[in-house]
Amino acid sequence: MSAEPVNTAIGEHDDASAECWCCGSTDAPARMVQLGGHPEVHLCLQCAHFVHQRAREIEDEGKRGPAVLVRDQFRNLRAEMIRRGWHQNRVIGGKLRWLGKYLP
Ligand SMILES: [Zn+2]
Repeated sequence: MSAEPVNTAIGEHDDASAECWCCGSTDAPARMVQLGGHPEVHLCLQCAHFVHQRAREIEDEGKRGPAVLVRDQFRNLRAEMIRRGWHQNRVIGGKLRWLGKYLP
């Protein structure tokens, strides 16, 4: 008997979990985002939020204005916190990750 999960449906395992195509984590398919044209592709919620943020970043490229400047500053701040590993800090990491969900 194999310990590896067996795919029973497109992108889903025999234990009714699905694997994220981005980071490889598994979760219930109902708690994952599927792509419209490719239902076999599942994204976990964290990766879906990342894709959304990345899409906003691409939309902002080439734009000017105070709102774009503020969003860029928040992105730079987030990148610096991640570079320093503050998002994994036991004291403030949870609060930073929570705050990051609501910032551009
Ligand atoms: Zn993921």
